[in-house]
Amino acid sequence: MKAIAIDGPSGAGKSTMARKLAEKLGFIYVDTGALYRAIGLFALSVGANIYEPASVSGILAGIDISLKYSDGQQQVVLNGKDVSGEIRSEAVSMAASAVSAIPRVREFLLDTQRKLARENNVIMDGRDIGTVVLPDADLKIFLTASPEERANRRYNQLIKKGVSANYDAVLKDLEKRDYDDSNREICPLKPAEDSIIVDTTGNELEESVELLFNIVKENLK
Ligand code: C5P
Repeated sequence: MKAIAIDGPSGAGKSTMARKLAEKLGFIYVDTGALYRAIGLFALSVGANIYEPASVSGILAGIDISLKYSDGQQQVVLNGKDVSGEIRSEAVSMAASAVSAIPRVREFLLDTQRKLARENNVIMDGRDIGTVVLPDADLKIFLTASPEERANRRYNQLIKKGVSANYDAVLKDLEKRDYDDSNREICPLKPAEDSIIVDTTGNELEESVELLFNIVKENLK
């Protein structure tokens, strides 16, 4: 099986790029952030303290998460219910970031992620795929862009969806998540030593997809 790891900060375009590449290559796209989001959503729904490791660890036994694929689209199933839409709110983003710093949460999700890569050709995106989850991935990409550009992209996505948003608030949330994800003790966001760093600041989406596709063609062993 082949595995491509794509890591990077929030809003760098990992999911859009990974989805397009997966389509071109016939691989499945695994969005690991969705797993952390599902735990964040569950924690909020049962009133756990998302900043308290003991509180969150205590609810893990009641969680069953799986990823399902239909027509190449990933669905996140939490205790039998499709929560793919619900996990996209800003509140769940912040909860996902908080629970992802808890070691028991990361352990809990490790097998699910590795099993998907054992059984399928995957493009997996996240924060620690190249460093921790799939250290032997065939190709590792670290995708990034300036905070302002990432905030701008996210802001435009929200407006397009009809969600009211404030650019400064989006930028502030994104910078907080960047900081928390990069500075946590366990599995911090950082490029694997053998990753190819791709900065998409100033690129149109299609340019970045083309750039990544060429990197894959040249480097996938
Ligand atoms: O990628 P996405 O923004 O959906 O991820 C939500 C949160 O989940 C991130 O801010 C990060 O804290 C966490 N995450 C993680 N490790 C991953 C994927 C996501 O810690 N592999």
